[in-house]
Amino acid sequence: MPAPPAAPKPSNFLRQVIERDLAAGAYASRRFGGSPGDAAHHAKGPPDPARIRTRFPPEPNGYLHIGHAKSVCLNFGFAAEFGGVCHLRFDDTNPEKEEQEFVDAIVEMVHWLGWSWEANGISHLYYASDYFDFMYRAAEYLIESGLAYVDEQSAEAMRANRGDFNTPGIDSPYRNRSKQENLARFREMRDGRHADGAMVLRARIDMASPNINLRDPTLYRIKRATHHNTGDRWCIYPMYTYAHPIEDALENITHSFCTLEFEDQRPFYDWLLEQLASGGLLQRPLPKQVEFGRLNLTYVITSKRKLKALVDEGHVSGWDDPRMPTLAGMRRRGYTPASIRKMAEDTGASKTNIWVDYSVLEIALRDDLEPLAARAMAVLDPLRLKLTNWSEVFGSASHREPCSAPAHPQRPELGQRAFTLGSEVWIERDDFAEVPPKGFFRLFPGNKVRLKYGMVVECTGCEKDAQGQVSAVLARVVPGTKSGTPGADAIKVKGTITWIGAHPAAEGGGVQATVRLFDRLFSAPQPDSGDGDFRDHLNPDSLRVVQGWIEPSLQRAEADLRLQFERHGYFVTDRVDHTPGAPVFNRITGLKDSWAK
Ligand code: ATP
Ligand code: MG
Repeated sequence: MPAPPAAPKPSNFLRQVIERDLAAGAYASRRFGGSPGDAAHHAKGPPDPARIRTRFPPEPNGYLHIGHAKSVCLNFGFAAEFGGVCHLRFDDTNPEKEEQEFVDAIVEMVHWLGWSWEANGISHLYYASDYFDFMYRAAEYLIESGLAYVDEQSAEAMRANRGDFNTPGIDSPYRNRSKQENLARFREMRDGRHADGAMVLRARIDMASPNINLRDPTLYRIKRATHHNTGDRWCIYPMYTYAHPIEDALENITHSFCTLEFEDQRPFYDWLLEQLASGGLLQRPLPKQVEFGRLNLTYVITSKRKLKALVDEGHVSGWDDPRMPTLAGMRRRGYTPASIRKMAEDTGASKTNIWVDYSVLEIALRDDLEPLAARAMAVLDPLRLKLTNWSEVFGSASHREPCSAPAHPQRPELGQRAFTLGSEVWIERDDFAEVPPKGFFRLFPGNKVRLKYGMVVECTGCEKDAQGQVSAVLARVVPGTKSGTPGADAIKVKGTITWIGAHPAAEGGGVQATVRLFDRLFSAPQPDSGDGDFRDHLNPDSLRVVQGWIEPSLQRAEADLRLQFERHGYFVTDRVDHTPGAPVFNRITGLKDSWAK
């Protein structure tokens, strides 16, 4: 039979763009002044040691989410692959919503993903607000060149005169005033002589352009707001569309990768940089904007604004709630950085927005955890099992039978874990059935099962409380059947169950633990599209907290320890609430895929 065709590599047209540019030497002549700067600054520097420069430019107004991770991995990944550098740039030109807390959290999470902006002895971490002086100077240059003007039309008039897809715009009555007048007005704006919103600076391009973004876009607005970096120094702030190309150019970025919604902005990006380079303000060759499709994951929301609403309205415990698709939440949940990087790589880069099934991430996660996570037993819905002939067999009710199990079935170098079997053990409630359904091979009266790594027991019945609920299962231990001894195989059983000794941990019995079992935060595959509010799709059962029993060796488990509880899935000690004396585990994911439809 012919081999099935290999799965096509995810398309990565971005890589092709870089390869083509490198082959053509498109950026070979750049110089780098050691820090961001204008043409004169870079001209004094040596040839740029970075073959390409990319950037990840978050706005520090929230926590990074899994969608951002895609962009982080693309930008840092390409820089690493092609001998380049990726800058971490805080796009903090909007004074109102930005906070130091978010800056710190973003730095931490990009590091956590495994990326670094240190290269050639330089830390390439930048703030767009450090470029305000240059942006201002560039604006005066545009005014002096007749390429920008101060418009005093009301916001409504400006909107009405912009036209629409079918109608060309109408020139502002202020469009043709003199350069001197415009310059004076702009300086008055800067000096706080006009009210917020009284006027704006606009580029002077073409009010009839078929691309509405070229119909004299706004460059600067008046806004009295304290900025987290520049304080009250400015009362005019640049618009994002004006600021972003300049940020890229000052930093010598070669490839400015962004998501598709910026495609219509590209002509303005190029127009602006072309003007400033012609005026000698910016070094050539200029950066190039290339758009790729956003990554959307099923069952997840990737909008900072909506994630913030979940936090503010108390639907989750915080930005780092383990159910959140934020990187802080995913780290706390137990996701590995490698699994997120792998998902980013496997989903490639495409020219349309893509939907990826959440199971893609889960599969990458399990692949990563399987060889890494040590094994242990845990009982999450405990029911007492009494071995009624224990004293008879071992001569004393307090006898503890030592047992051991490999820490990892494929990694003998990790050694063995030890615990003991006693006269009473915890088992899972659903491992017992008074009347067994068809195909049930675990405990029911008359049936034999193996207590994993322990002995074979034969069920004889159960005890019930006043409500008729099963309160304990009764069984007899079968002598000579201990795992690892010659008699172990003497009796064949169809079922093996996990358990934890009900005696003190100091004698090899169990340790009590709080265990959080998570389900999807949203029950709809696309909670953010279609009808209704995304909140309508919140899953009311996304968190279940249980008290369980775990192996004694985990008594002193450190924070952020990942392991597999046999039969239950992968778990991590919670990085916030866990202490060795009072363990708290989060379930990372189950052993099998529960996400695919
Ligand atoms: P949000 O809508 O969540 O606020 P954003 O795009 O406004 O996201 P920024 O802080 O501006 O947030 O994003 C930083 C970078 O991350 C941008 O380059 C943006 O294009 C990219 N990015 C954000 N979300 C995604 C996504 N789902 N897929 C790929 N890239 C993304
Ligand atoms: Mg944004």
